[in-house]
Amino acid sequence: MTGPVSSPAAGARLELESVGHLYGQTRAVSDVSLRIEPGEFVTLLGPSGCGKSTLLRILAGLMQQSEGQIRIDGQDVSGLSPAERDVGIVFQNYALFPHMTVASNIAYGLEARHMGNRAQIRARVREMIDTVRLTGLENRYPRELSGGQQQRVALARTLAVSPRILLLDEPLGALDKNLRLDMQLEIKRLQRAFAITTVMVTHDQEEALSMSDRVAVMNAGCLEQFDTPTQIYDRPSTAFVATFVGTACLLDARLERDLQRFVAYPQVGGGIALDEPAPCSRVGAVRVAVRPEQWELSTDREDSWALDATVELVMPLGPTLIIDLMASNGASLKLALPRANAPTLTHGMPVRVRVKPGANPPVFLGGASRID
Ligand code: ADP
Repeated sequence: MTGPVSSPAAGARLELESVGHLYGQTRAVSDVSLRIEPGEFVTLLGPSGCGKSTLLRILAGLMQQSEGQIRIDGQDVSGLSPAERDVGIVFQNYALFPHMTVASNIAYGLEARHMGNRAQIRARVREMIDTVRLTGLENRYPRELSGGQQQRVALARTLAVSPRILLLDEPLGALDKNLRLDMQLEIKRLQRAFAITTVMVTHDQEEALSMSDRVAVMNAGCLEQFDTPTQIYDRPSTAFVATFVGTACLLDARLERDLQRFVAYPQVGGGIALDEPAPCSRVGAVRVAVRPEQWELSTDREDSWALDATVELVMPLGPTLIIDLMASNGASLKLALPRANAPTLTHGMPVRVRVKPGANPPVFLGGASRID
């Protein structure tokens, strides 16, 4: 692998403190505080309209926040332009200059900022082209490149000037699925090689979980959870995070204390033993978020942890069977079973299912935060 050229020893620290934004009367971002460590790759993840692009534009200096402060390495950058902040941004549509070759596009920022003489700029462009693996294509125009290649040019152009922070605005949105995976790896490789603090916006949860050191999940302008991908998936702190990231069904249940442990009794039937003790004062109406892989089939007719359901739909998905079940009260449940040992299941077949012992699904109080 070709290494980066004069890359910074480590990225910059990026801090958002109580950042909020209003478009006229419309509140787009509410009280978001994040501390992003040097060299970290953080994704802003959330549904359309949750405020992630607004936040990214504020970080870039393309617009000014209504409330709060942005700091880079401790310096308040509110009011500074993108160039003054030393922030690089890559857009979904690449924003390449169509009348310039690959080499000229990459040289553009270096020339505009007078970063070296002609020979130095040429050398830097050559190294960047090698780094993003576009050697041999330097004299092509953007229209002569694939979407993935154009995105590499955009990355090279942005990284060439060694910004302190890299911002990626849905960078893979325009690519088809296979190419997306290649570009995910490519972006990750470059981000590591340059050790550059990176913030990416996406609505694609798989992309966020696979690429990021930490994910900031947003909903309706608010930060719901800022955590590692595994914590977000395994220990979602709100019912929104549990259902937006990955698949989970939210079961209305009654939480009870049973000797040393807590048991949730879903309205659909059965019972779910919880390892982690929930505070006894919270015993009562709750919602339990159960992921498809946390269910199993039960063959024991007397199994009091199991509930009755019928098979609605069976879909093979590579090594996994996705099974859509209808519980006796009409609620829909999704199961994922390894296809290798799964019994033959057909539409209308009665089955018994239960949450696997030890699965310990998260429990939420009403629509609010997780109980633990
Ligand atoms: P996302 O990137 O998560 O889809 P945005 O940051 O684009 O969300 O938008 C957040 C909210 O702000 C939405 O309700 C959107 O309609 C609103 N919004 C975005 N841009 C503007 C604008 N220029 N003027 C008014 N409202 C806007």
